[in-house]
Amino acid sequence: MNEKYEMMIKRLIEKIKPHEIPFSEPWKVLISTVLSQRTKDETTAMVSERLYKIYPDLESISKANLDHLENVLKPIGFYREKAKRIREIAKILINEYNGKVPEDKDLLMKLPGVGTKTANIVLSISFKKDYIAVDTHVHRISNRLGWVKTKTPEETEIELEKIIDKKYWKILNGILVEFGKNICKPVNPKCEICPLNDLCPSSKIVAKK
Ligand code: SF4
Repeated sequence: MNEKYEMMIKRLIEKIKPHEIPFSEPWKVLISTVLSQRTKDETTAMVSERLYKIYPDLESISKANLDHLENVLKPIGFYREKAKRIREIAKILINEYNGKVPEDKDLLMKLPGVGTKTANIVLSISFKKDYIAVDTHVHRISNRLGWVKTKTPEETEIELEKIIDKKYWKILNGILVEFGKNICKPVNPKCEICPLNDLCPSSKIVAKK
């Protein structure tokens, strides 16, 4: 692995407390990640908490009244579509996987609303497997840092797997999400307080050094 990239990752590990998903059960990580698509983390967390209070297991979600489920999910984006998806996911997990979340990427990606990012989050967080979950933060920051030159998160995932040592794969998402929310923001990144500003090719202040 490129020494400079490794130095950047090590510095981030030292300085950034990784973003954490407030659930550990695989089915909750899966459902909440589906809910989180195109939704703010705070809203996802609030709605997830409410959802699991009313529907505490897959069985109850699978049998939920769709109108009621939509109402519970209402603050999040695309709540109607997501209500259908999570009810369908609950049914499939019960009927085809004995109520368990499969630990296999291809099987996960057959579930409704589950793409590579969601599958990788479940595999890396719930099952501690080596996958890089690439969301908008990971995609943007990897490009700013010069690790990749890509146009989509899917391309970024493929390129990162080639250049980042496997031992960092499962922690990368948590660190870069937190870093992206607080420092390397989508608009007006805070390069002046960034621990990577002497190494980053996109730094706004590197020229002054
Ligand atoms: S120096 Fe600026 S652009 Fe580069 S990683 Fe830090 S905040 Fe992002």
